[in-house]
This record gives sequence, C-alpha cells and structure tokens, in this order.
Amino acid sequence: MSQGSDFFDAASLVVAHDETHAFEAVVPPLVQTSLFTFSSYDEMVATYRGEKSRPVYTRGLNPTVRMFEEMLAKLEGAEDALGFASGMAAISSTVLSFVSPGDRIVAVRHVYPDAFRLFGTLMKRMKIDVTYVDGRDEAAVEKAMPGAKLFYMESPTSWVMEAHDVGALAAIAKRHGALSVIDNSWASPIFQTPLALGVDMVVHSASKYLGGHSDVVSGVVAGSKAMIDRIRAEAYPYLGGKMSPFDAWLLIRGLRTLPIRMKAHQESALAIASRLQALDVVEAVCHPGLANRLPPGLNGTSGLFSFIFREGVDVRAFADQLQLFKLGVSWGGHESLIVPGEVVLEQKAQPNSAHTFGISARSVRLHVGLEGTEALWNDLEPAIRAASAAA
Ligand SMILES: *Cc1c(COP(=O)(O)O)cnc(C)c1O
Repeated sequence: MSQGSDFFDAASLVVAHDETHAFEAVVPPLVQTSLFTFSSYDEMVATYRGEKSRPVYTRGLNPTVRMFEEMLAKLEGAEDALGFASGMAAISSTVLSFVSPGDRIVAVRHVYPDAFRLFGTLMKRMKIDVTYVDGRDEAAVEKAMPGAKLFYMESPTSWVMEAHDVGALAAIAKRHGALSVIDNSWASPIFQTPLALGVDMVVHSASKYLGGHSDVVSGVVAGSKAMIDRIRAEAYPYLGGKMSPFDAWLLIRGLRTLPIRMKAHQESALAIASRLQALDVVEAVCHPGLANRLPPGLNGTSGLFSFIFREGVDVRAFADQLQLFKLGVSWGGHESLIVPGEVVLEQKAQPNSAHTFGISARSVRLHVGLEGTEALWNDLEPAIRAASAAA
C-alpha cells in the first residue's frame, strides 16, 4: 500500500504530456486550463520580467484562444485579433478603449440593439455622446463627423438591412480624424473584409457565422497591432470578458467550413427572398442582394434578411404553422429561424424601448439555414397561404 491516500495513489493522475507535438493530432488540442506552471524559478521570473513570452493564466493568454485569434486575423487581413466571451464584450471593450468622457461617437442608425443600449446607458452615464446617421446618406455622415472621436458602423444593419458603401464612409471618418469600427457579423470575412476598405477595426459576434453551429457565444476584434495592443492593455484584462478555450476550439472547427457554409446560406436565402418578393401578400423584402448591385466591397450576401407582409396577414398563424423555421433570436447556425417584428416591438423591459430599429409590426426576420432551399420553401409557402386566408 502506498503512503498518503488510502484510497488511491493521487500522484498517478499526473499525466505526461507532449506539448510540442500534441500527439500529432489533426485537430488542434483544446488547452482547457486556467493556469500554466513554470519548470523553475528562473523561468517564472524571466516571464514576469517580460523577457520570455508564454502563457501564465488563461484570462491573459491561452494557446487555443490564440490559435483562433490568429486564424481570424488572417481571414480579416488584420495584423492581430483578440477573442472575447461574447460579441458584446468585443464591442464594449473595443469602443471603451478609444473614448473618454466628453467624446462623441457617430454611429449608423439601426445598429445591433444591444450596442445601441450600451451607448444609451453605461456610455451615456460616462458622458459619451452618440449621434446616429443614415449610413446610406454620405452627406449626412460627412455633416455629423466633425469633432467625432469614433465612427461605429454595421453594414448591412441586422433587421432592415441598410447596406452602406463602407469604404466611402471609412474615408469620411479618416478625413475627420475619427477611428472607425465596423460590426462585420452579417457578411463574415468571406463576403466583406472592411480593413481592406480602410476601416480601422472589425468586430464580430462569433456566436453567429464564425461559430456556425449555434453552440457558442463569443466575439472578436481585429485590426492593426497597435490598436489591438491598446485594447489588450486596457479594457481586455480588467473588464475580463475572456473567450473560453472550449469556445475557441469550437470556433476553430467552425472556421474550417465557413466558406462553404456562407455560399450555401447565400444561395438559399437569395432564392427564398426572390420568391417572397413575387408573392402578392408580401409588401417588401429587405435583402441587399435584391438591389441592382451590392455596395462596393460587399462581395456576397448571407442568410439573414427580413420581409414585410401586406396589411391583414395573420403573423401569429404564419409563425405557428412553420415546422422547419423555428421561432428564435440569433442566427448563423445550421437551422432556419424567424423573429416576428410585432413580438420584438412588445419588448418593453429594455432601456430606450421606444426605439424601433426600423422594425415594423408586419415585418418578419428570417435566417435561412442549411436545410435546403426546396424544403424551406415548402415550409414557408403553405404557412403564408394559410396565414393570408386566415386574415
Ligand atoms: C448577436 C450580435 C451581436 C452581439 O453578439 P453576442 O455574441 O450575442 O454578444 C452583435 N452584433 C450583431 C450584428 C449581432 O447579430
């Protein structure tokens, strides 16, 4: 019998590991650990002095998270990237790293509702002002910009899909000395690489297309080394919204199929959007791919768009008849989803709830997933017919 534990030899649980080759696994290892140990005092003190760079604690640096950050930086054509626990953590940490009390932000109207609420609550209390402009109106953007510290964009916007000439808007911001940030979750780097268009920083909700399987909540920002270093030095460790290693591992898996998933979302969503547009009971379809041309720099379209029913269609009957399309927020995964505008307008508990983000009661947002165009249309079309007859 060994000394110490009378139950089992606990020292036998210490496993030998092979950190350089990771057993030659084809899938990168998931380094699911909170801390990293040092082999000697000397190694520890060299690390603390900054003479040696290596992981110490996962809130600072984790190899699996770092691997995802490097992949994403490459996709966005960025020098560096930084992963976060959510898209909102990426947005708040990025914006807060570059503004101070008394500064003004210019933002395109209809930005992601929780970004709008961040600007309208916490940042308002910090005396940071936000001016909203229609991003399609370059003269209005130009007029709002003098004196602004930061220009916050999202294109297309995630309900009414207002699509902007991102390069032209970034140039206006640059001319006025404002830093520009864009939320690129909708297009993904497959269809839009904003840094190449002159934008300074790109944020993503990686919970959407980057992950692609509806099993992760996380976010990321990409940009120049200097800008990412500033976020890494100030907001990132202390606000502490760190991406988890497991989420990074799932995102690395997601990125491998990103190009083919985006192509499939694009094809199905475009086909369904044009069939909806041809229906009498549909007043309008908000999908940038239905316009004569996409704005410069947007090289494809994804699975998220909305449409507006004509008066008299029973949206509740439509929603409840659908089988493949599930009622649910978020998007970017395999499954198709709907959100009825009239339900969103019931959301009274949120700050600034009077703001509608362009959402009308007769509109419905669709996320077209990967189930196949015909199967999805065979779900939608009878539900629309029944809901129109019920009215
Ligand atoms: C979901 C979403 C966010 C927020 O991301 P989380 O990961 O949910 O925090 C930001 N922007 C857009 C466009 C989104 O759809």
